[in-house]
Amino acid sequence: MALERRYQELFDKTLHAASTFLCGLSNRPVGIPADFQKLLERMGGPLPQEGEDPIRVIQCLAASADPGIVATAGPRYFGFVTGGSLPVAVAADWLTSVWDQNGFNYVHSPAAAVAEEIVRRWLIEMFGLGGEMSMGITSGATMANFTALAAARHALLRLVGWDVEAHGLVQAPPIRVVASEESHATIFAALQMLGLGRDRVLRVPTDDQGRMRPDALRTAVANISTPFIVCAQAGNVATGAFDPIAEIAEIVRGRPAWLHVDGAFGLWAAASTRYRDLVAGVEHASSITVDGHKWLNVPYDCGFVFVRDRLAHQAAVTLTAPYYCPEQEAGRDNYNWVPETSRRARGFPAYAALRALGRNGIAEMIERCCLLARRMACRLAVDPKVQVLNEVVLNQVLVRFSDPSGGSADEFTDEVIRRVQRDGTCWLGSTLWHGKRAMRVSVSNWSTTEADIDVSAAAILRCAAPQKNAASGL
Ligand SMILES: *Cc1c(COP(=O)(O)O)cnc(C)c1O
Repeated sequence: MALERRYQELFDKTLHAASTFLCGLSNRPVGIPADFQKLLERMGGPLPQEGEDPIRVIQCLAASADPGIVATAGPRYFGFVTGGSLPVAVAADWLTSVWDQNGFNYVHSPAAAVAEEIVRRWLIEMFGLGGEMSMGITSGATMANFTALAAARHALLRLVGWDVEAHGLVQAPPIRVVASEESHATIFAALQMLGLGRDRVLRVPTDDQGRMRPDALRTAVANISTPFIVCAQAGNVATGAFDPIAEIAEIVRGRPAWLHVDGAFGLWAAASTRYRDLVAGVEHASSITVDGHKWLNVPYDCGFVFVRDRLAHQAAVTLTAPYYCPEQEAGRDNYNWVPETSRRARGFPAYAALRALGRNGIAEMIERCCLLARRMACRLAVDPKVQVLNEVVLNQVLVRFSDPSGGSADEFTDEVIRRVQRDGTCWLGSTLWHGKRAMRVSVSNWSTTEADIDVSAAAILRCAAPQKNAASGL
């Protein structure tokens, strides 16, 4: 009884804090978070000598952290590529914490293993990946890229008779890596961790939307005499553009090559009949990365890696110990497919989100975000100062502002972004796109509405207009 009361009261109070936060999320300013020093003072102080009451700790945490909590999960956060959390996914994530299952192996948690197996089957079917690709649930697309490229390294070196996991890279026969000028930074981060060298990559030029140019790829690989990896991308973080995957697959066909597709957010296009053509050819990929915490709108952290050669996948990341009790054949040990051993049972929130949305719900969420991105582009483009730099093919919009008083568009664009961030109606970040400063808009949240887009577009245009108080700020 005492234990029951202890949980009950603590969880009731926590639930109250959580609901208060979530219900206020869409009205919360999406501005710059509090200053580091001030937050340190609010939340910090010395480690208490004696422990404090758990209810008090939770209440103090909720209150003191509040100014430092950014409304990234809310409907008007358009920075980076940021999803929110579907209510059902948050609920499943709570259960995941409560159950405290180790996602490591079958005997630790049969349910965690089965949830991941079901998510694998559902996603393979929905994305139309065909065959029996193996899948691991990682902390995000970075580790998914890492895992995929580790599998690629294994498979290509196995072709030339080298066991890289046993003998390392020091005296290994060479392999090459081909990426594009626009490959995501995490591809290079993965290569640097895998000993394949960030700067040894052959970088293929892209077109004006950031798509890998197939003619340039053909030329680049014509002279390669070793096995090689090609890193293609479904969804450029700036423009949302897709590399021509079918053509790329055609170019490497018959070569000793591994085609990896980083579809962190772009692969979700495959869930919609309207957008599927963008990823045509992805079924030919040797490995594929996709995020859960971006467009599937599950809580951090969640990413998926799919690998066609399951033996290479397993060989690259698995490990063994005398006490592991591996599950044979029919079952699943999650540790065979990710670099981690003990970890969060990430399959549960993904399972809940997929099941609650269903195929139609997922397609609808993806299509809605794309429509809203186009709506944002249209709302902004009515202002002659605004230039939309990309073809809005997905959920990303790149915007640049010309200075009405004739100043530098780069500086003015940065100034508008600063004003928008201070204004707090919505949040957007900046980027450098082909030498030009630009504002980057990503619509990836399940809860964003047309009204959110309209009020945000109006706020952005207000920030680009001559500022009433600009001169009187003396
Ligand atoms: C976001 C992103 C990544 C990195 O994903 P994380 O989930 O942050 O690790 C990799 N590639 C692309 C294309 C992305 O958009």
